[in-house]
Amino acid sequence: MFKKNWIWNDPVWSKVIAAVIFAVITIIATTISAKVNDISFTEAWNKFWTLKVELWLLALVTVVLFLLFVLIKRKKMNFLNYTQGTWRNTKWQWAWKKDPQTKKYRIFNLNTLCPKCQKGLFTSPGFYSREYKCAQCGYTVPMQSFDKPYSDEILGEIYKHISEKFTSEMKYIDFEDDN
Ligand SMILES: [Zn+2]
Repeated sequence: MFKKNWIWNDPVWSKVIAAVIFAVITIIATTISAKVNDISFTEAWNKFWTLKVELWLLALVTVVLFLLFVLIKRKKMNFLNYTQGTWRNTKWQWAWKKDPQTKKYRIFNLNTLCPKCQKGLFTSPGFYSREYKCAQCGYTVPMQSFDKPYSDEILGEIYKHISEKFTSEMKYIDFEDDN
């Protein structure tokens, strides 16, 4: 499902395919040229390869092709802007962290946001604290009266949602399915 574009992401295969496409285009162009000018394929072929091209035109074409290549190869990573969402009636916020080895991103610092101001992180201030407190507005709720879901449970739901929303970008995301 996520391997649709694997061939274009492979450094060797993408070059081989580009060369094959170029060769096919050259052969088609030569065939058309031979028909139009009423000459043999060999003549048309020789004419094509001995064609005198202005240097500025060659430079321009090279630059345009290079820019097109850069545009196509540019990675789309829209998921990096997606850092908030509501799950189980609670607003969650997270950040993305890049793994230096796999070069893939994963969610970290997943936290609930304050139900009152929706801005501050809503966490327990200390290890022995019996309440959740907003770091922004100071709103507190006793732990036993606030049914806070475990972030591990929510994490699976967030990744599932992301895989549906950013399907083509999943190759940049390190999603370990524990199920
Ligand atoms: Zn608050």
